[in-house]
Amino acid sequence: MRQPTAGIHHITAFVQDAQGTVDFYSGILGLRLVKKTINFDAPEVYHLYFGNEIGKPGTIITFFPWAGSRKGRIGGGQVGITTYVVPPNSLDFWKQRLESFNVKVTEVERFQETYLQFQDTEGLRLEIVERESGENSNWSFGNVTTDKAIKGFGGAVLYSKAPEKTAETLESVMGLKRIGEEGSFVRYQATGDIGNIIDIDRSVTYDGIGGAGTVHHIAWRAQTDEEHTLWRTHVENSGYHPTKIIDRQYFHAIYFREHGEILFEIATDPPGFANDEAAENLGEKLMLPAWFEKYRHEIQSNLPDIEVRTLEEDVE
Ligand code: ZN
Repeated sequence: MRQPTAGIHHITAFVQDAQGTVDFYSGILGLRLVKKTINFDAPEVYHLYFGNEIGKPGTIITFFPWAGSRKGRIGGGQVGITTYVVPPNSLDFWKQRLESFNVKVTEVERFQETYLQFQDTEGLRLEIVERESGENSNWSFGNVTTDKAIKGFGGAVLYSKAPEKTAETLESVMGLKRIGEEGSFVRYQATGDIGNIIDIDRSVTYDGIGGAGTVHHIAWRAQTDEEHTLWRTHVENSGYHPTKIIDRQYFHAIYFREHGEILFEIATDPPGFANDEAAENLGEKLMLPAWFEKYRHEIQSNLPDIEVRTLEEDVE
């Protein structure tokens, strides 16, 4: 049996600066670096994964940092804004924290919720919203205690080149429910308690250009490998051309570009990030899939050193 997707599995973006990305997502946002590996399709580039303490699906943002790569432009055909969710009564903490790191924060209202919007150092658009739903993270970092920590994704704002078609795909292919409309936004809900609220912003009229500082793709959750096979058939029967199932070591993946030109992936919840290293040591060592292990020395010497570190502004 194939269930509708529970929501977002992970979101993947291109950036230039590996250490800057670690400093922003671990140092400022307090997420755990749960996996340090390489881009399996381009082993000279890191693939860094950040999430809650175990990198649960719905909490994972991943990056391909490539120094000197071309800057992209956020626009139609991309995830425009990545939304993080924090526990109730922690938005003031986050506003102060972001400002203490000189991150410019704008408050906006949408569907009766208050969002703190800001950009990371590469220009990716992010926002934070308070919600009851979703388990608290067990990961604390610097002054971010677990009662304030980011739980994972609240969802995302999609910038489509064909909003009506993207809406149709969210409903009829992915199984989301349309739950509201406000101004240029249409809101969809998936069945999970995290990464489950997807807004399409129909006001975006310019096309995105892929590159550093833009989201490359959004992945949706499939609960099991058995279900994943059914998802592939379902996507194909819906008129799309999904890739074959690809082993990404921590999940299995298929990819297809939806009609609004956003790259969609469907990824399995299992096996997860404790697949190749102990849960307590996640993210500490460079992990390589077996087929790259014999090139470890060469691969490692090509990658810049990075470290998760407490930033100056975090010290009271
Ligand atoms: Zn992916």
